[in-house]
Amino acid sequence: MLKREMEEHDGRRPQPLVVLTSSPFHGHMTPTLQLATTLHANGFPIAIAHSNLNPPNPSNHPSDFTFLPLSDNLSAVEGTGGFAKFINTLNNNCKGSFKEHLTRLVNEGNKSIVVIYDNIMYFAGVVADDLNLPRIMFRTTSAAFIPALLLRQQVRQHGRFLEEDFVMQEVVPNQNLLRYKDLPFSKTPIEDWKQNVANYSQQAHPSALICNTIKFLEHESLTQVHNMLQVPVFAVGPLHKLAPNLSSGSCQEDTSCITWLDKQPPKSVVYISFGSLATMETKMLIEMAWGLAKSNQRFLWVVRPGSVSGSEWLELLPEGFIEETRERGFIVKWAPQKEVLAHFAVGGFWSHCGWNSCLESISSGVVMICQPFIVDQMVNARYVSYVWKIGLELEWVERGEVERMIRRVMVDEEGVEMRVRVNDMKEMVKEAVGDDGSSQKSLEDLVDFILSC
Ligand code: UDP
Repeated sequence: MLKREMEEHDGRRPQPLVVLTSSPFHGHMTPTLQLATTLHANGFPIAIAHSNLNPPNPSNHPSDFTFLPLSDNLSAVEGTGGFAKFINTLNNNCKGSFKEHLTRLVNEGNKSIVVIYDNIMYFAGVVADDLNLPRIMFRTTSAAFIPALLLRQQVRQHGRFLEEDFVMQEVVPNQNLLRYKDLPFSKTPIEDWKQNVANYSQQAHPSALICNTIKFLEHESLTQVHNMLQVPVFAVGPLHKLAPNLSSGSCQEDTSCITWLDKQPPKSVVYISFGSLATMETKMLIEMAWGLAKSNQRFLWVVRPGSVSGSEWLELLPEGFIEETRERGFIVKWAPQKEVLAHFAVGGFWSHCGWNSCLESISSGVVMICQPFIVDQMVNARYVSYVWKIGLELEWVERGEVERMIRRVMVDEEGVEMRVRVNDMKEMVKEAVGDDGSSQKSLEDLVDFILSC
């Protein structure tokens, strides 16, 4: 029995009900549910207030989890007019039903309730504040992304809209790291973006912040974030290591790729996946395919249905590609990614650099080829390639460049050196989540913080 559970059974400390919000995005929902599982293991009763779009599957969770559906009235991310509008609609639509749920829980006699909300579901912080309940923000991104958001805002307020600008390659003045191109600019119409900023700025100030990151990895950024927010910051990552048995369950994993990997030599396979959201044009798919073929390396490729504009699945792959690579390639719709990255045969990860993917790659000691698409992925890619030096940045997707990149990572001395570094980091992750490690210590501090609320 865990320490917290024993205390509860002793009757010494009543555990507050922890209400977490779960957003419709896979990359947000998974760490939220991992956090819920971790807190549950520490004795807290858990309720999950979730969007009805991509809801969590209750059967993957302990039977005493409570699920609170929110009336989001959303049917898909697409069709709502882009990401910024989607976030606005999500927040406007969910607020009422969240307030009803919380009010009911209070009226039912739940004396102490603590709300932990995904930062993109900021309505929950506002509602908790209205009801005078403690509210803890949860960031599923890297800590470094938080100041990068502020930097983007400053650049935009100075009238710079740089998407087409040649200065994109330049380092932002007074920064020694991030270039303009690393900042999360988007194609969002400026009015929607302004509305988003206005909404965010009306958020309730959180009582504390939880980050799915690790102190040794982001020490400076965590200090910066703490200085920005002036509230306790808990770095409890990587959460997939604290809740390793949780099945995310929302996508059907094709485990036949593990059987295929079992037959490949050690560190010989490049794993390619761009997460749950990234989409690309056909031209990119074709250049990727021929680059892979020309590199002559083994590969496991996740081609998510719908990820290529206008296609069902593989029909837009260039003619002859499948035949040419049949002996050394395997394609699936969705892989058991953590298992894949931990597999002895995998030697590199060509990734969009979503934060979960970065954490999973580092935890498994796998070097990366970074091809960021949107939001926080550019900042993550910059850290992977330029700060931690455990990956290379693929600047443009052209078959010759793809071939060179894969060979640099999989075959050349450069790849060997990066692998040494990432293996050191893998060991440091193990220490961080082990007894007395920094993430375990932060988790204990978080538990104490929740109890003290
Ligand atoms: N993932 C997976 N199988 C796949 C592709 C992705 O299990 O074939 C998981 C991956 O392990 C990670 C998540 O989906 O936990 C993707 O999150 P990330 O933050 O990397 O990217 P996002 O999907 O948010 O863009």
